[in-house]
Amino acid sequence: MLDYNNKNFVLMVEDLTVSFDGFKAVNDLSFYVEPNECRVIIGPNGAGKTTVLDLICGRTRATSGSITFKGQNLLKMREDQIVHAGVGRKFQTPSVYEDLSVFANLEISYPKGHGVFGALFFRRDAAVRERITEIAEMVFLTEHLGQKAAFLSHGQKQWLEIGMLLIQDPELLMLDEPVAGMSVAERRKTADLLNRIIADRSVIVIEHDMGFVADIATRVTVLHQGQVLSEGSMEHVQNDPKVVEVYLGH
Ligand code: ADP
Ligand code: MG
Repeated sequence: MLDYNNKNFVLMVEDLTVSFDGFKAVNDLSFYVEPNECRVIIGPNGAGKTTVLDLICGRTRATSGSITFKGQNLLKMREDQIVHAGVGRKFQTPSVYEDLSVFANLEISYPKGHGVFGALFFRRDAAVRERITEIAEMVFLTEHLGQKAAFLSHGQKQWLEIGMLLIQDPELLMLDEPVAGMSVAERRKTADLLNRIIADRSVIVIEHDMGFVADIATRVTVLHQGQVLSEGSMEHVQNDPKVVEVYLGH
């Protein structure tokens, strides 16, 4: 087991349970995420992976347990408050504004209400523009800033959505199967993107592509029937007979 003593965790999930009409989709689950960590959650279909993200972002209410993000109890907060606290979440299907340009998609995602610029809108505009340029470059979309999102490839839409989350500078970013439907080249670039962004935040990724997992994971948590089946380095979980039996062996 990993030694979790004396660590400053960004996220602590403890004894978390959610019951849907008596069925425990997440069952007494505990895991801990460190700063600058890319945690990958793997496991068979129906293991409870997406439900864990739903619980963290406040979309689904827990039956019992606790979720602590930077010392704040997320179970007491609404979805918008959780976003405001610094948790960004990307769903499985991209949800960008198809009729708007890449630039406009990033612009509307820029956090509102940062009072530092006061009434000096032109200064805010310049700061927003600079940030959009920076994010576009990060997500490989510099050349597409003026293009309607509708004309982007599926992979580029996924990147745009990641950019729309990054512009809010979340301290924890959660991605549900971000490379599904991407080409090999796009997967490689996405791995590179994730490896860069963990310099400033923690990331939780749900993923099935084990090659991709190997490229990004700091640590892997294997979920099975709403519980942790195994946890540790990629090598550790890959060689764990329990994991081979319920997941990797298939
Ligand atoms: P995974 O993402 O690992 O494939 P999910 O978290 O989507 O799994 O689902 C885990 C289990 O919980 C599944 O059996 C699913 O049918 C069930 N489930 C998820 N959300 C709900 C819900 N809102 N109501 C009832 N059952 C649900
Ligand atoms: Mg899922």
